[in-house]
Amino acid sequence: MAIDFTFPTEVEDVRLRVREFIEEEVKSKEDDGLWEADNRQKLIEVILKGRHKAKQAGLWMPHMPEEWGGMGLGPTAVAAVSSECAKTRLGSFILNCQAPDEGNMHTLLHFGTDEQKEKYLKGLCDGMQRSCFAMTEPEVAGSDPTLIQTHGVRDGDDWVINGHKWFISGARGANFAILIARTNADAEIPQERNTAFIVETNWDGWNIVRDVETMSGSHNHCEIKIENLRVPDKNILGRVGGGHELGQVRLGPARLAHCMRWIGQIELALDMMIERAKTRFSHGSLLSEKQGIQWLIADSGRELYAAKLMVLHAAYKIENKMDFKTEVSYAKHHVAQTLWNVIDRAVQVHGALGYSTDTPLSSMLAQARWARFADGADEIHQMRTAQMLLRAHDEKGSTRRATCALPI
Ligand SMILES: Cc1cc2nc3c(=O)[nH]c(=O)nc-3n(C[C@H](O)[C@H](O)[C@H](O)COP(=O)(O)OP(=O)(O)OC[C@H]3O[C@@H](n4cnc5c(N)ncnc54)[C@H](O)[C@@H]3O)c2cc1C
Repeated sequence: MAIDFTFPTEVEDVRLRVREFIEEEVKSKEDDGLWEADNRQKLIEVILKGRHKAKQAGLWMPHMPEEWGGMGLGPTAVAAVSSECAKTRLGSFILNCQAPDEGNMHTLLHFGTDEQKEKYLKGLCDGMQRSCFAMTEPEVAGSDPTLIQTHGVRDGDDWVINGHKWFISGARGANFAILIARTNADAEIPQERNTAFIVETNWDGWNIVRDVETMSGSHNHCEIKIENLRVPDKNILGRVGGGHELGQVRLGPARLAHCMRWIGQIELALDMMIERAKTRFSHGSLLSEKQGIQWLIADSGRELYAAKLMVLHAAYKIENKMDFKTEVSYAKHHVAQTLWNVIDRAVQVHGALGYSTDTPLSSMLAQARWARFADGADEIHQMRTAQMLLRAHDEKGSTRRATCALPI
């Protein structure tokens, strides 16, 4: 039988090492107040100390090749490690595999010239620099990047860029941004309109307007005004007109990386739900003994199980250089929905305590809400998977190919 749902020993070993590290070195440092804007300095100190320990423990950048100082794990092993990391909010920062740097590292590795890698990728890998990815704009639907209005005009060996971005995660404190701008409004193929530029954030014309306040507070998702920003030709990442393609290459694995982290959060919420149900007594029995509560637990377990299978299958496809678009779309949609469902059920079982800020559930719920529209809204993934199902049926008279071509 070729189907084997166990990890090879070396992957299981690394997963357990990360679990132990998170349990012993990271969990105790986790304190909700740490993420308040006023505690930024303390947060940085905790991350830097943790990073030192992670490096010593050989748990640095699971997603990057060894020649760049990483652990050189494949996507399936990264899935295992990331969900362990995400049991705490600090975990991925300490192992230097946090969004958006993780996605930017992949992008630079894939598209960067040697000079760009030396100048920008190296600093990210050392953990001494940070970056952001600037695509979304307030004026047009982020779901459709062919509408981007920020535009670059060639001037000699430079490009002059003007525009407006928002929700740019990690922009404050980032050393550089990967900026997506329109460079050819008339391109025959709409997906050829945009180009990616590497922009150093201390260059004139890159102006942070504000940290956008969200339903869970301010978390360094910035609004940026771009005014006559001059970028040299050599800072084009990939090719002119290749911005859309670069976004897609970046987003596939980056979406899956989010799913991996969300699985860790789902597991945490389900454990909390069960722990509460096993200790709270009402109307003659524990909550865990009530059928209504068991249904919440059962539905959560079933959805989590499906989420894990989808993520592992998508990771397996990426690892084996197979087409993974359908799998990642199904996974992103399902895992984001499951994240929301399970945390919401955990809040329900905790009652007023779940609504308070005395447990991490309230901030987990607020964070979970964006999962359903960022990196491809539910409806976009539904649209894409429906298109793939329809196309498969048109071409083969069967949807089999678009249900991930599994052998059943
Ligand atoms: C916490 C957070 C962090 C983020 N970080 C970054 C970042 O670092 N860099 C960056 O560039 N962006 C970032 N974003 C922005 C994010 O990528 C966008 O929110 C996302 O792409 C959706 O774009 P939009 O908000 O403009 O929504 P819109 O595109 O306006 O969509 C709104 C809603 O319309 C519906 N919709 C849209 N199109 C369709 C369609 N074709 N069919 C059916 N329904 C549709 C969906 O329900 C969707 O949720 C972040 C957002 C959040 C909340």
